[in-house]
Amino acid sequence: MFDVIAFDADDTLWHCERDFQAVHESFLGLLSAFHEREWIEARLLETERRNLGTFGYGVKGFVISMIETAVELTEGRVTGQEIQRIVDWGKGMVHGPVETLPGVAETLETLAKSHKLMVITKGDLFDQESKVARSGLGGHFSAVEVVSEKTEAAYRAVLARHRVHPDRFLMVGNSLKSDILPVRGLGARAVHVPYPLTWALERVEGVSPATHGYQVLESLADLPGFLQTT
Ligand SMILES: [Mg+2]
Repeated sequence: MFDVIAFDADDTLWHCERDFQAVHESFLGLLSAFHEREWIEARLLETERRNLGTFGYGVKGFVISMIETAVELTEGRVTGQEIQRIVDWGKGMVHGPVETLPGVAETLETLAKSHKLMVITKGDLFDQESKVARSGLGGHFSAVEVVSEKTEAAYRAVLARHRVHPDRFLMVGNSLKSDILPVRGLGARAVHVPYPLTWALERVEGVSPATHGYQVLESLADLPGFLQTT
């Protein structure tokens, strides 16, 4: 039924958001002497939102947003040592182990026998390619596409480049905003595999399988079984 099955990477193939949230917690701790937790969170989110158009998604933009927020919320009193700690948190995220989600390796191995598999992810090219390599999953994929934003136009361009018709394409991912809605917009099929944590800037309201025609699976390991029934 499908020629190509494409997977999102972060929080679909491996854990990611939990690492961002752990650093986020450390950042709240760093500024706790200056402000209430909710205020720091709101300011950081606002800075991240503002910086997306300048630095894009990923760890580097997150680090710069934390530094900028720290400078703003301490009125310039944040120390060089504290800024170094923020930078080191970012380095820890980039160099840390890539822990794949349960059943991912086995599922990809099974599906690679019958389908062309692809990764479509957004963010920093260096970081994402390095994670694919460190995950040990790279051999299953015939292509890894890193785009700056997962819009309908970005998916259309990827499909055109690989000469895949939307009817023959399936996207699998954890983000309704990035992995499901733009793909449904193209008329292609999409499977949502939710992850327990969702970044505030990835949340969408009023979207359901009934309104937007996608499938929900509890785990990526359920995908081969799902494909046999479609
Ligand atoms: Mg994701």
